Amino acid sequence: MIIDFHTHIFSPDVVRNREKYVNLDPLFAQLYANPKAALATADDLIGVMNAQGIGISVVQNIAWSDAGLCRASNDYIMESTVRFPQRLIGFGMVALDSEDSALAEVERCTRGGLRGIGEVRPELRLLQDLDLIRPVIESVIKHGLILLTHSSEPVGHSYAGKGEITPRYLYPLINAFPDLKLVCAHWGGGLPFYTLMPEVKKAMNQVYFDSAASPYLYSAGIYGQVAILAGEDRILFGSDYPLLQPRRLLAQIEELALPPETKHKLLGNNAARLLGI
Ligand SMILES: [Zn+2]
Repeated sequence: MIIDFHTHIFSPDVVRNREKYVNLDPLFAQLYANPKAALATADDLIGVMNAQGIGISVVQNIAWSDAGLCRASNDYIMESTVRFPQRLIGFGMVALDSEDSALAEVERCTRGGLRGIGEVRPELRLLQDLDLIRPVIESVIKHGLILLTHSSEPVGHSYAGKGEITPRYLYPLINAFPDLKLVCAHWGGGLPFYTLMPEVKKAMNQVYFDSAASPYLYSAGIYGQVAILAGEDRILFGSDYPLLQPRRLLAQIEELALPPETKHKLLGNNAARLLGI
């Protein structure tokens, strides 16, 4: 079964009132102010999964800056996973910089059946002083949740929402929380390369890398390279739908000269193991 680890959905209210949310939230504005940037509901996602052969999608929230917007969007993701319990697995969002509300929301997400927090985009000041987010991350670990973070390349072209969460900041985060199950999206912004350093490899015990938006970032060789560098047990198929249709990445993967076992791991077995399903 194919598991798409990285998709984004929004409630019909958000989809209908894009302009309102563009004015309310700076990240939403960065990603979706352009009316051509696709927005999808849970029903849209299920339709695409049915048409393109995806068994389960992991639904990621986005890093809303306001705790109220986090809660409202978490509600929609929770409702959606209840409506489609066999098809959708949800991740929630918390406002990382407001500790009390974040801790309460981690609890509420866990009770609501969500399996992780993501796609987070911690501000640089939080990544530079990890003690500021320590209680929240420790709560994520305590509740058995997975954290999925946006990651960005320190080099190469710029794009809307690229950000600065480069290996320079990801590595200290990984070192500070060795028990954290962490997924670094977008192939970790190049972090897998540094697993050739023995101490970095050792620190990556609980770290996974997803392929979200891969065709916009890397040539198809990236799949095999990260499988070698980080290990074939650490790679997760993720499309970043609706930014990209899953079938575009699936067609790319199908053409790769990788062993069938590696493809099975990439396309679902690794995700199933990580999610305990
Ligand atoms: Zn991202």
